[in-house]
Amino acid sequence: MSFSDPIRRRSSSATNSARLGKGLAATVGSLLLALSGLAVGTQPAGAYTLEGLKWHGTQDSGCCAHINVKYRGFSYGGNQTAIDDAISAWNGSPANVLLCANCAGNLTAGDENNSADGWYGLTSWSTSSSWGSHYFGNVTLTLNWSGMSGLSSSGRKEVAMHELGHAMGLGHTSGCIGVMEGSSTICGYTTPQSDDVNGINSLY
Ligand SMILES: [Zn+2]
Repeated sequence: MSFSDPIRRRSSSATNSARLGKGLAATVGSLLLALSGLAVGTQPAGAYTLEGLKWHGTQDSGCCAHINVKYRGFSYGGNQTAIDDAISAWNGSPANVLLCANCAGNLTAGDENNSADGWYGLTSWSTSSSWGSHYFGNVTLTLNWSGMSGLSSSGRKEVAMHELGHAMGLGHTSGCIGVMEGSSTICGYTTPQSDDVNGINSLY
């Protein structure tokens, strides 16, 4: 499975990927709709969406779930800056996760420059052979400089935060209630929003 976020859809991966870009909304299979916030008191109703998968066995300290992001190589400094900044933003948020940048693991991040596909980011995954279909086996996150180069640095960071959200188990939400907005809009967020955090904290 994967998520891709396209400016234009890439036919070869349309069935199991999610992309963030301009234009077509991604085709997403097997999303579980969840609710958060419970609409109690002044708490706004949340709308986070989950992929139905998470990382297994990440709770290795009292802090939060540790997830390693292995850098498999960046050809474009702007893409690596986006990932670095996005990891810092998730780590600085109230989400119960601690992402380790450039640490060995089964979540890998890298980039490409594919002008044929205009997508900003693509996150794909396999399910775990050890723990079953509700857990990630390998996750591959790719940023496409062809799309990303047209964004501001803050826009690139938002795309990277979005793809990391997929890589931790978040699906697409509708509208700019957080960085997981799925229709390709750059919402202008520089940090994960409460809906994004609520989604992650329902998983870890
Ligand atoms: Zn997406």
